[in-house]
Amino acid sequence: MPKKIIIVIALILTVIVNTLPTVAQRNRGRRMIRVDLLVLNGTLVTMDKERRVIQDAGIAVAHGRIVAVGSRADIVEKYSAPERVDATGKIIIPGLINGHTHVPMTLFRGLADDLDLQEWLTKYIFPAEAKNVTEEFVRAGTRLGLAEMIRGGTTTYCDMYYFEDAIADETEKAGVRGVLGETVIDFPVADNKTNAEAMAYVERFVQKWKGSELISPAVAPHAPYTVSEEHLKAIRAFSDRTGAPIVTHISETKREVDDSLKAKGASPVDYLSRIGFLNDRVIAAHMVWPTAGEIQILKRDGVGVVHNPQSNMKLASGVAPVPKMMAEGLRVGLGTDGAASNNDLSMWEEMDTAAKLHKLISGDPKVMSAEQAFELATSGGARALHMEKEIGSIEKGKRADIVLVNRDALNQIPLYNVYSDLVYATKASDVQTVIINGRVVMRERRLLTLDETAIKEGARVFREKVIKSLGASIGP
Ligand SMILES: [Zn+2]
Repeated sequence: MPKKIIIVIALILTVIVNTLPTVAQRNRGRRMIRVDLLVLNGTLVTMDKERRVIQDAGIAVAHGRIVAVGSRADIVEKYSAPERVDATGKIIIPGLINGHTHVPMTLFRGLADDLDLQEWLTKYIFPAEAKNVTEEFVRAGTRLGLAEMIRGGTTTYCDMYYFEDAIADETEKAGVRGVLGETVIDFPVADNKTNAEAMAYVERFVQKWKGSELISPAVAPHAPYTVSEEHLKAIRAFSDRTGAPIVTHISETKREVDDSLKAKGASPVDYLSRIGFLNDRVIAAHMVWPTAGEIQILKRDGVGVVHNPQSNMKLASGVAPVPKMMAEGLRVGLGTDGAASNNDLSMWEEMDTAAKLHKLISGDPKVMSAEQAFELATSGGARALHMEKEIGSIEKGKRADIVLVNRDALNQIPLYNVYSDLVYATKASDVQTVIINGRVVMRERRLLTLDETAIKEGARVFREKVIKSLGASIGP
């Protein structure tokens, strides 16, 4: 072969080889990863371990989970999706976690206020419940509560009530995440008249919803003073067998502690520890009066604690030692309690109150920073519900529970610190768009899974029924 031809071939080969990587790179650039949804732009408060706050952020979501978190530029370079949510000018946060509610009690909102827990419960709430709570009541109240929670950026809630199967049904339809506990209590209630009936209900309920992406079915013994030792032990055994979480109230009032000391010779946590009830599936609301020793028991057993500052203040139950429990590394979240004792389901008010209450009671303004209060409603709440692997922060692999918050309301301007803005200035009405399990359930303040007008109508109908049922005992 002539030398010239060999040189020409060599040159051609060199050119081809040199252009190859460029072609491959171009192909790689075009081969985008297809996902379901992208959330782009805005300030992302991740609540991950490093507490990253990403400006001009991007999140990729597929099959209900977060597959990537980063800068907008990184995300749009690698991912494409049929649906995009534009967060320009917004704050993106993990969905809020309401760690303790009785959601249908929205229908008793304002029925009886300004009373202590015992009087409130025995004179008003228990009689009103006995006369009014039906499956239809529970469904209507749940829809009202769900609409209020979505509007306020709550994406997961932990509940305890009756007809919890109907609550689960409404919750799943609305696309909201819930740890939902069917109440077990030692007197006849709306859905179950005996402990045997209640336990049979719980068995069916847990089997039915187990494995659901949104609903975690749970068993909810009301409190150590309304459920016997024998029944509490049976509930613990049921939970061991099925893995169901246990939702309960513990150490809410001083009176509960005093009564427990008298009747059982131990304060509530000590007593529950002694009978082998506590473990890392228990979610305990209130925990206002634990001793230093009891805090160690809660830590040892991995019990989730839910702080309800507004309910505790309103019923004058006391102030839970939350800063101490947080310093000890306990699993502490935040909840509103039922709307009959709060009287709303706003986690924004709850965060604001938690931060201020602990400063006031300790006399130290450095106690419970805005960032810590925000933690209670997000990553802390996830730990309290024993769900920190799934929710509570915006991180790769977690469920896509994502909330966009406006930051241009008069009450938010100007903004210097994002946690300060979120905890001390933002209101539920500033929540703009809500995504749960990768599905948009509220867009630009419009509910997509619930009919707001019908919900309001339904609630008014039940108000008339409640008034009729209680007769003259209703105020002005
Ligand atoms: Zn409660």
